[in-house]
Amino acid sequence: MTEAERLRNEKLGARIVDALKKRHFEAYYCATGEEAKEKALSLIPEGHVISWGGSETLSQIGLLREMRSGRYSVIDRDTARTPEERVSLMRKALLADTFLGSSNAISEDGQLVNIDGNGNRVAAMIYGPTNVILVIGLNKAVATVEDAVRRARHLAAPTNAQRFLPDTPCAHTGACADCTAQDCICAYISVTRISRPAGKIKVILVGEVLGF
Ligand code: SF4
Repeated sequence: MTEAERLRNEKLGARIVDALKKRHFEAYYCATGEEAKEKALSLIPEGHVISWGGSETLSQIGLLREMRSGRYSVIDRDTARTPEERVSLMRKALLADTFLGSSNAISEDGQLVNIDGNGNRVAAMIYGPTNVILVIGLNKAVATVEDAVRRARHLAAPTNAQRFLPDTPCAHTGACADCTAQDCICAYISVTRISRPAGKIKVILVGEVLGF
């Protein structure tokens, strides 16, 4: 990263942190993924049961590895031995104490946009867990909430589709066709305008390229 990019990220990060705080989020800026991981760990109260939604960002910064170290009480759907057990763990995650994740896009005025196929990830961010920690690379920051929805639909979702290759147009072409396929990974599109109750959602912005 060049010095100019580092400085830009620092200034933009501070500006979005201010915008998030006005919307009652707790918000932080970290220059690196390593710092973001330490910050996220510091925001998990002792004794909390922790779960998370599918997130490349959490893997990239090493937070999922930390969660699977045996030092935490976690609900990890990837430990399931059958599809039924996986669904059961996803349902239990809705009542975890702390939920970890990222977002598909964030606007400069501090609104979060998320797209979800099953809805479990956006559901847990909205209601259930009392402590929600989201780690978001500044590559996901865009000017307006309309830009954020566009980013989520036209960049994040078609890229995400390449991980699972659902039977959707974007999986085949890399572009969104506004489909209504049964496998559509854009069944639910959420905009989180504020954190309610105040401080429930903690956003850690990172001055690195993380996730899609
Ligand atoms: S083609 Fe369908 S699944 Fe793919 S990004 Fe567009 S709406 Fe989502």
